Amino acid sequence: MKNVMSVDVEDWFCVYNLSRLIPFADWDRCESRVERSTLRLLDLFRRHRVEATFFVLGWVAERFADLVREIERQGHEIATHGYSHRLLTFMQPEEFREDLDRSLAVLARATTQEVRGFRAPSFSLTRRTLWAVDILRASGIRYDSSIFPVGFHPDYGIADVELAPYPLAEGLIELPMGVAEVLGQKVPCAGGGYFRLYPYALTRWLMRRCNDQGRPVMFYLHPWELDPGQPRVPGMSPARRFRHYNNLARTEERLERLVSEFSFTSARNLLAGQ
Ligand SMILES: [Zn+2]
Repeated sequence: MKNVMSVDVEDWFCVYNLSRLIPFADWDRCESRVERSTLRLLDLFRRHRVEATFFVLGWVAERFADLVREIERQGHEIATHGYSHRLLTFMQPEEFREDLDRSLAVLARATTQEVRGFRAPSFSLTRRTLWAVDILRASGIRYDSSIFPVGFHPDYGIADVELAPYPLAEGLIELPMGVAEVLGQKVPCAGGGYFRLYPYALTRWLMRRCNDQGRPVMFYLHPWELDPGQPRVPGMSPARRFRHYNNLARTEERLERLVSEFSFTSARNLLAGQ
């Protein structure tokens, strides 16, 4: 079974965990490391013949258009992660519309593909922000991959939605983040912090379980998760520091194993039945 490999292309300082310490207005003053880390991911995918979907942040695409072109040149899908990485939960509908359209305008200059996919920063499409669905459709988005089908996380998740891809609205498919069902409990196996936290064997077991239950896993990573040398920012809470820095040095080696043991493709190929 084919699973989906996706990358949220953002720099190490764009994350929600750092948003209070490094506000958006200071981003241009930070040391950018996104190109180097993304090129390492591209190299890994090329060696393992993985086609992936790259949800590129508009702010990054504006500064690194050549990187977006290189992702496309290597045969991957370009999708949008919004422009400014503000969470939907902190935006008014009109602000979200502007943020999304700005990201699409930037990506249209950097890629020849029609951008069809969207992933909200920090999976912030929740019950409270379902107003975003109409805006996504109006902006030409055909699939969303922002819903984490769990109920335990304080910042994201919708507990009682389907675990397999499903129509979110007319003309808009949802590709929810990977979650396995174990003894009636929902256990994430979608990548990111979970991939760094779990022993590799647990990720493998949970993903096999999803595939055995007939579901592809929507898997994701950030380029900064392959970069143990990124600057450490003082002032982060212990919980956030753990989530952000835990096991960064192991991600690349684990990813090599994962793409050798599972089959992955892009979201567009999955939706096309390939
Ligand atoms: Zn993000």
